[in-house]
Amino acid sequence: HPLTSEGWDRITQTNNVSEDSLAGVTLTGVSKRFGGVAVIRNLSLDIAAREFVVFLGPSGCGKSTLLRMIAGLETVDEGEIRIGDRRVDTLPPGERGVAMVFQHYALYPHMTIRDNMAFGLRNIGTAADEIAARVEAAAQSLEIGHLLDRKPGQLSGGQRQRVAIARAIVKQPELFLFDEPLSNLDAALRVRTRLELAQLHQRLGTTMIFVTHDQVEAMTLADRIVVLNDGRVEQVGTPMDIYLRPASLFVATFVGSPT
Ligand code: ADP
Ligand code: MG
Repeated sequence: HPLTSEGWDRITQTNNVSEDSLAGVTLTGVSKRFGGVAVIRNLSLDIAAREFVVFLGPSGCGKSTLLRMIAGLETVDEGEIRIGDRRVDTLPPGERGVAMVFQHYALYPHMTIRDNMAFGLRNIGTAADEIAARVEAAAQSLEIGHLLDRKPGQLSGGQRQRVAIARAIVKQPELFLFDEPLSNLDAALRVRTRLELAQLHQRLGTTMIFVTHDQVEAMTLADRIVVLNDGRVEQVGTPMDIYLRPASLFVATFVGSPT
């Protein structure tokens, strides 16, 4: 069974999410081209506060691009992105209140795990004792406390991904963004980490967007699934909706609906 409850109690106390700091996400007419090729096509979507939404679609359909636009790692050609009541598409990534976890972890190789987790908070001037408390709580909950003085190169892939998740937690974001965070893990770790993410969502109640091409991940994690096809929304619905009432042949084929 994943995660110690003591660690989670500390995290829940440390990450004091108040109801009015909970933010949904609204995309309105968002478009993106790369070298004249449309990758995201006039896409609109409403995500409620507290929702766990999965963007599901085949490789190349634009999932990462869309997530990176929400994070501020790609510019938006047209349209608007709102997080809560703030328009964020012109804000730098650090001011959007988001934390992102990547498939390839994206840890700083020359820094210790502790410094990797503290780095973002130091940059925005969080007090040292506050940083220490948050790092401690997140490390304990993900059972990486014994790794804090090591460097990423000394960790397994699974441990690195736990560090990346812990690093996102300490930022206390309004919105978590996950880009295929389980894809590099072996099957057993994938299941365990999936459960941990579900638990994280349950505990914190923070809005989460999770990108994957894996139907099983989408079905097991999502409150709602957004099926993407070639830069467009193909269908939005609960996992049961998507599976049992696919809106198109594309969706039926992709999620393997019963015929
Ligand atoms: P997914 O995450 O669903 O696999 P991506 O968002 O990574 O899809 O990519 C969508 C499309 O945009 C692909 O055709 C990809 O080759 C293209 N693309 C992504 N990033 C860039 C970039 N920086 N420059 C040019 N083309 C890109
Ligand atoms: Mg991708």
